[in-house]
Amino acid sequence: MSKMDAPTGADERYPTAFTVDDFRYNLAAVESRIAEAAHRTGRDPREVTLLPVSKTVPTERVRVAIQSGMRLLGENKVQEAARKNGETADLDVSWSIIGHLQTNKARDVAAFAAEFQALDRLRVAEALDRRLQAAGRSLDVFVQVNTSAEDSKFGMPPEELPAFLEALPSYETLRVRGLMTLAILTPDEARVRECFSLLRTLRDQAREDAPDLIGAGELSMGMSGDYQIAVEEGATCVRVGQAIFGARALPDSYYWPEG
Ligand SMILES: *Cc1c(COP(=O)(O)O)cnc(C)c1O
Repeated sequence: MSKMDAPTGADERYPTAFTVDDFRYNLAAVESRIAEAAHRTGRDPREVTLLPVSKTVPTERVRVAIQSGMRLLGENKVQEAARKNGETADLDVSWSIIGHLQTNKARDVAAFAAEFQALDRLRVAEALDRRLQAAGRSLDVFVQVNTSAEDSKFGMPPEELPAFLEALPSYETLRVRGLMTLAILTPDEARVRECFSLLRTLRDQAREDAPDLIGAGELSMGMSGDYQIAVEEGATCVRVGQAIFGARALPDSYYWPEG
């Protein structure tokens, strides 16, 4: 493996990890920033789980990441996750699907994923439930909410959340763990923070109105550029890719298509 596969024009904030030591170093750096953010707001850092996101990272480097101790990895696209799952079958690792899902991919998710963080339509819940029943499996899910009111983001509008949560218990193989969101992509921290605090408010409201429907009430929010703000706002899971694996060559629009 050589440094040649580092993306050209890579973001210098996010050096590419190649070795077990590189991964341990990057993980420790992110974990210490999570701890600082937690302490700033009087939270226990142990309430926050770090989900490393390995999308676009070649399997060769993913294997090194697993050797450094990672046991659950996030992937945005189902096919990429399924391929890497096959290529790491000899290692002890599970997969969290964190990106938008089309109903025709539900079978793949049902077959191997440990967790699905982007549930935002009942048709997907139904397709997953049917496939999971057939496979004799269950699946942890997070309901994705669009907190930024941007068209390019997936997730349901906040006002649809209560009815959606009411409908989910019919799908017996799905275990709701909480809510997930992507903040608006902007350097304006105040607007990013508003997205995260909206998700927390929605969770608090759901807990008050129908505590049985929201599971542990987890909040999956925060990525490489904004996870410290997310932790200050109550995140229990941060999904971090570039700050652990290194800068991605593909633009974010590949994962969050416009409109
Ligand atoms: C890629 C991705 C992340 C992580 O983004 P980074 O900038 O690599 O930290 C988090 N959540 C979702 C849904 C993603 O697709």
